[in-house]
Amino acid sequence: MTITPLMPVYPRCAVRPVRGEGAYLIGERGERYLDFASGIAVNLLGHGHPHLTKAIQDQAATLMHVSNLYGSPQGEAYAARLVENTFADTVFLTNSGAEAVECAIKTARAYHSSAGNAEKHTLITFNNAFHGRTLGTISATNQEKLRKGFDPLLPGFAYAPFDDINAALDLVDDNTAGFLVEPIQGEGGIRPASQPFLQALRDICDKRDLMLVFDEVQCGVARTGHLYAYEHYGVTPDIMASAKGIGGGFPMGACLATEKAARGMVIGTHGSTYGGNPLACAAGQAVLDVVLEEGFLDQVKATGERLRGALEQLIPNHDQLFDSVRGVGLMLGLKLSSDSRAFVAHLRDNHGLLTVAAGENVVRVLPPLNIDDSHIAEFIEKLSAGAASYTPPEA
Ligand SMILES: *Cc1c(COP(=O)(O)O)cnc(C)c1O
Repeated sequence: MTITPLMPVYPRCAVRPVRGEGAYLIGERGERYLDFASGIAVNLLGHGHPHLTKAIQDQAATLMHVSNLYGSPQGEAYAARLVENTFADTVFLTNSGAEAVECAIKTARAYHSSAGNAEKHTLITFNNAFHGRTLGTISATNQEKLRKGFDPLLPGFAYAPFDDINAALDLVDDNTAGFLVEPIQGEGGIRPASQPFLQALRDICDKRDLMLVFDEVQCGVARTGHLYAYEHYGVTPDIMASAKGIGGGFPMGACLATEKAARGMVIGTHGSTYGGNPLACAAGQAVLDVVLEEGFLDQVKATGERLRGALEQLIPNHDQLFDSVRGVGLMLGLKLSSDSRAFVAHLRDNHGLLTVAAGENVVRVLPPLNIDDSHIAEFIEKLSAGAASYTPPEA
């Protein structure tokens, strides 16, 4: 037998964390890493945050799980809080981002089919999109590396270049249900859509009664300095998927929708065994307690500006390697002039700094949202030392 007990689908690196303390991860041999990856935008309060930890501990001891056959005071209170603080009128709770996107896809299709327009089933999505790893969500991207070997995929998706409004409008026909788009592409390379692009999608949806679906699984939950990135753009979706940071490390997701958009999601149309159980809701509530606290979002914006400024200052010192900085708030990307994967590995293995590689040679910089200036200074020091000691592999 050569297969490992853990199905070998991940190219796991040599970092083997066993403990976390705030913005640091500690490995099996006691080595420390500055964690500017945050479990890919998940641990938004860092590791071991006392309020989040206590909320989970208390709820685990009180009531961990009940079936969605029963009434849910915890789910009602949590959903009401999301509704109060977003565009949405209603929320379906999930355990992951892909499930939140799946629910968003079903909600968009049900919107049309419930009105007798079942032929309006196609969502227009965008090149380099990442929406998850289920069969539905890999069908919603045209990235070959995610799809290869899993045919036949789901019909009902069409693909346009990201941020290209004319190309997107050209695809609209009588089968179009709407658009599915990340306002800021994450895996694709921290690419913010332009405001006119998202506004134009909103306008065509209004004109043709289509659904605008935002995938805010990575850019949502305070990461941009807004609770959700759509606020940054001033463009409101009909349906939105949220996950990653939403539970601060507890597996959780949500599909949010307006009352109108959710008209097809009636009793019996959807479900999840675990989705929105009391333990998950306690984690979600604890995260909202912190990010909705007076001043927290402003603090994220200010920290993001300081981190971005520090990164921009560093570029001229390493202009052979560093190209530019992109992103919003604390969802930042450092674009390199060569492969980012090798540089991310170098920072990790030789400088104790964790970041994440993304498309377009981008190093994703996704720190916990509650970092302070000492963390920024340490990050810049490690990044600078990493750039100085780095030789890009031969192309
Ligand atoms: C991570 C991610 C997903 C998938 O989330 P999972 O929890 O891994 O299923 C979907 N969309 C975007 C934009 C993501 O970044």
